Amino acid sequence: MSQTYQPVVGLEVHAVLETRSKMFCDCPLVDSTHAEPNVAVCPVCSGMPGMLPVINQAAVDYALRVALALNCQVHPTSIFARKSYFYPDLPKGFQISQYEQPLATQGWLEFDTLEGTQRVTIRRVHIEEDTGKLTHKHADGQRYSLVDLNRSGVPLLEIVTEPELHSVEAVRSCAYALRSVLRYVGVNSGNLEKGLLRIEPNISVRPAGSTDFGTRVEIKNLNSFRSLERATTYELQRQAALVQQGGQVVQQTLGWDDDRGVTVAQRSKEFAEDYRYFPEPDLPPLVLDPAWIEQVRAALPELPHARHNRFIERYDLTPYDAGVLTAERQVADFYEAVLEAAKQADAKLAAHWVSGPLFNLLNEAGVELHALQFGPAELAGLLDLVAGGSINAAGARQVLGELFAHGGPPAEIVERLGLQQISDPQQLQTWVAAVLQQNLQQVTEYLGGNAPLFNWLFGQALKLSGGKADPAKLRAELQRQIAATETSGEELP
Ligand code: ADP
Ligand code: MG
Ligand code: ZN
Repeated sequence: MSQTYQPVVGLEVHAVLETRSKMFCDCPLVDSTHAEPNVAVCPVCSGMPGMLPVINQAAVDYALRVALALNCQVHPTSIFARKSYFYPDLPKGFQISQYEQPLATQGWLEFDTLEGTQRVTIRRVHIEEDTGKLTHKHADGQRYSLVDLNRSGVPLLEIVTEPELHSVEAVRSCAYALRSVLRYVGVNSGNLEKGLLRIEPNISVRPAGSTDFGTRVEIKNLNSFRSLERATTYELQRQAALVQQGGQVVQQTLGWDDDRGVTVAQRSKEFAEDYRYFPEPDLPPLVLDPAWIEQVRAALPELPHARHNRFIERYDLTPYDAGVLTAERQVADFYEAVLEAAKQADAKLAAHWVSGPLFNLLNEAGVELHALQFGPAELAGLLDLVAGGSINAAGARQVLGELFAHGGPPAEIVERLGLQQISDPQQLQTWVAAVLQQNLQQVTEYLGGNAPLFNWLFGQALKLSGGKADPAKLRAELQRQIAATETSGEELP
């Protein structure tokens, strides 16, 4: 994007509150990608006249967790309202949402960028219900649409930030941080592809240095973080080029065409729709007991950003490693459980083995941490063997592979696979002596100045040990014996 325009972006996020039942009825939440259409539907969520909604307390609990995790001011009383409009996926003709008196306002979220930690203001957090889903078909020369109400009435949390994001990196990082919070507090799995989390950037540009706001567009239908980034980048460039040429941005809702890599017009937003909001007469105001709010606050886990900072300070990890280890709560929990169980292995060693070899195995097998055949205690046991010098890194990798496949006590696996690292001085001496004797020519050349031959000789000795010699001690022994021949000036034994 050109230097002369500053990006201005605010996020509107819809997160499904993944409770058991819907927002105002007992129907279960079903997986939209597997369930048959219209299997989770009742008179309430299909909009039959005269049916009464009942507030799902679990959904309020979930919403409250997020509002508190986002440092919001939670309002003791909030009001559900009817947002009226016609659309075939909305059988009641209105959506129940919170409007004038939302659950919570004025919070903030911290996230990291290359320039350091940034903070975005959370304007509001409110509860609403989802709509049904339409599938448009075109067959036998006819166009028609199918209506699936499984999603109708599913609890949604809307989270709106102020337009305070000024780079694509900030947009991405803020969106990730928000997703991470939702996952940490256990209300949403963060799945964009399935539409469980929908992130819609509102985007405008303004001349650098200006504090006015330019006309914004809103982008919908982004089903991955990659799309969020690409669409934001594209749109910022499009707007900057347009304004530069003297054109004007039209306020509208855009879709993202992932194949072509362009934003496409969906509907013009030049005329604000009149939703005729009014308080939902079938629901009482949502009144929260202050004691309950405090209970939910007290039960919040340590949140990702705080945990990230604590990992850096307490375990002396790099920001990168701390980021990898705290992105998911279960990973961070696992890591800290390893540290808890370890007797000799330190935080850095554990960080390396969790974020490196263990993650590689998980990724290759497509397995989640909770499905592992072993627990943190086993990994700690293995790392203690490494830290204590009982096995070397290559051996430990083998043991980890074995743990991953079958589980079991690490010490037993080491024994069974014969991976015990050998550091007995007598034994090392014998191996080194044998190698020197068998390679007199190379030793002479090394002493004559061919330095790289040292590593070659070391490799021979390690090979002779079957890879089991303690590498540091073996190296020292090799150095010692070569130095001895040199100073004695004698022929090799
Ligand atoms: P509406 O209520 O019509 O959806 P809002 O003013 O509440 O509009 O803003 C919706 C979202 O758009 C918020 O995330 C906000 O930060 C963002 N936004 C508002 N104005 C701008 C702007 N000029 N540029 C970019 N984003 C904006
Ligand atoms: Mg809005
Ligand atoms: Zn229902």
